[in-house]
Amino acid sequence: MRTHLPILPAGVVEEIAATGAFAAARGWVPATSGNFSCRVDERSFAITRSAVEKGAIGAEDVILVALDEPLPAGVSAEAPLHAARYASDSSIGAVAHMHSVAATVLSRAEAAAGVLRLEGYEMHKALVGFTTHESTLALPIFANDQDTRALAARIESTLGPRPGVPGYLLAGHGLYTWGLTMADARRHLEGLEFLLTCELEERRLRK
Ligand SMILES: [Zn+2]
Repeated sequence: MRTHLPILPAGVVEEIAATGAFAAARGWVPATSGNFSCRVDERSFAITRSAVEKGAIGAEDVILVALDEPLPAGVSAEAPLHAARYASDSSIGAVAHMHSVAATVLSRAEAAAGVLRLEGYEMHKALVGFTTHESTLALPIFANDQDTRALAARIESTLGPRPGVPGYLLAGHGLYTWGLTMADARRHLEGLEFLLTCELEERRLRK
């Protein structure tokens, strides 16, 4: 029996819908991929329903999930990855996930290394904890897995609650990032996507 299901607070659907539309407009969530969530309280979060067009998220497309209860029907298959982040770090207020071309291609290219190192970009400063381009941003890469509960456990045991970079790649899959607020998560999404696009373009130039 469900014991903890708060009412969805005002504005949560709008915040998730706005970030979904932002990502969809840039081609980062093709074919209903990607998912977005927002913390509701210390024990629950709201996340997009499975197979929803992210450019047109409505109230019926956002589902409440309690961290310590079974996932409700219809929720995104990747909800365990979001839940694990919220459970690991109580300061996280939003999680964003997308399948951009740059994230997908680079995550495959560096899958064996398990990390993508980005160096010398001014855009590092878009990420919390980075104050200069003179830094190395080491974005972890994990092997993809359709068992997202097992994947989440593996990721969290490696990352720890607050990794140096607020994000990770899933090989051949896409990017996860998060922040204290949805605005932070969205800035990290945009900043990391910019860095990944630069890196991909640079590698093309070198060929
Ligand atoms: Zn995905």
